[in-house]
Amino acid sequence: MIVVMKLESSQEQLQHVVQRVREMGLKEHVIVGEERTVVACVGNERFMDQSVIETLPGVDKVLPILAPYKMASREVKKDRTVVPLGNGASIGGKKIGVIAGPCSVESREQIIEIAHRMKAAGAVGLRGGAFKPRTNPYSFQGMGEEGLKYLAQAREQTGLAIVTEVMSIDQVELVCEYADVLQIGARNMQNFNLLSRVGECDKPVLLKRGLSATMEEFLLAAEYVMARGNRNVILCERGIRTFEEYVRNTLPLAIVPALQRVTHLPVIVDPSHGTGKSYLVEPMCRASVAAGCDGLIIETHLDPEHALTDGAQSLTPDQFADMMKNIRRVARAVDREV
Ligand code: PEP
Ligand code: MN
Repeated sequence: MIVVMKLESSQEQLQHVVQRVREMGLKEHVIVGEERTVVACVGNERFMDQSVIETLPGVDKVLPILAPYKMASREVKKDRTVVPLGNGASIGGKKIGVIAGPCSVESREQIIEIAHRMKAAGAVGLRGGAFKPRTNPYSFQGMGEEGLKYLAQAREQTGLAIVTEVMSIDQVELVCEYADVLQIGARNMQNFNLLSRVGECDKPVLLKRGLSATMEEFLLAAEYVMARGNRNVILCERGIRTFEEYVRNTLPLAIVPALQRVTHLPVIVDPSHGTGKSYLVEPMCRASVAAGCDGLIIETHLDPEHALTDGAQSLTPDQFADMMKNIRRVARAVDREV
C-alpha cells in the first residue's frame, strides 16, 4: 500500500500516518520525492483497513502496490534513484558511471597501477575481487583481507570508489571496513540471508543478476536488501545461462529498458562476464549505452594473458581507454555523458 500525502501536509500529519501504519503491523518507508511525500507500507496487508488511513488528515489517497516487489517498484517512487559511490561520483544520473579493474586483486603493484590507468581513462570506481566465488574449489580463491587492504591503498592514491564482492554473512563486517560498494555475485543473488545482512549496511549494494534468474526474481532479490532499510541498490545484468555455448553467457540487453520501466533503481551492465570474450566487450559496452544503461562494470588487466582469473574477457588499459572514447560518442547520441 502507498499512502500519498497531500502537497500541503505537515510533518505532524506524516508522523500520525506512520504511527497508524505501525499499529497495523506494517513497516513504513517514508519517501520524500521531488513533488510529494509518500509512505510505502509493506508487510501483511490482510489486517489493514485502507479506508481508515484514507480519512487521516494530510492524506491525499491510498493506492495498492501491484508489483510483488514494493520498495524497488516505480509505483512507489517515480523519480530515479541516484546511488552515491562515496567519492563524489554516483550511478543513476545523467552521467554513466564506469567501474573497471581486474577480476581479482593479485598483488599490491597490480591493483595500484591498474587503478591509476582506469582513473586516467575516466572510470569512477575500481573493481577487484578479494573473495572470489570459484566454480572449482582448487582454483585461486582470492587474496582475502590482504587484497582489501591493497584496494584501500588504491583508493587513497586515486580517489576511485572501491567495488568488491562479499560472499558470506561473516565477511560483511570486514568488507565494509574497506569497500565503498558491496558487490553481491550472481551465485549469491538468492542467498536471502546475505541479502538481508547487506540490507543493514550503510554501503551501496551492487547486485548481480543470477545465472538463471528471471527479472522478477532479480527485483525480489533487490527487495530483500531494501526491505532492511538499504535503498542504495544498483542492479547489474551480467549475462544468463542459455543453450548457446559460443559465448560464456548470453547478454540480454533488453532487460535495461525493461527494468527501467518497472524500477527506479539504476541498471548497469557487465559485458565482461556477459560475453566472456574481450573482443565482444567494447561492442556490448556501446550497445549497453545505446540501450540506456546507467553504468558499466568492466574487467581489465595489465597482462590479460597471465591473469589469475578471467583473462580472456579482460581488456588491457589501452583497450579500455579506447572503449571509453567510443562510448562517449554513443552517450552523446542518447543524451547522456560518460
Ligand atoms: C566477478 O565480478 O568477477 C564475478 C565473479 O561476477 P559474477 O558474480 O557476475 O559471476
Ligand atoms: Mn570475473
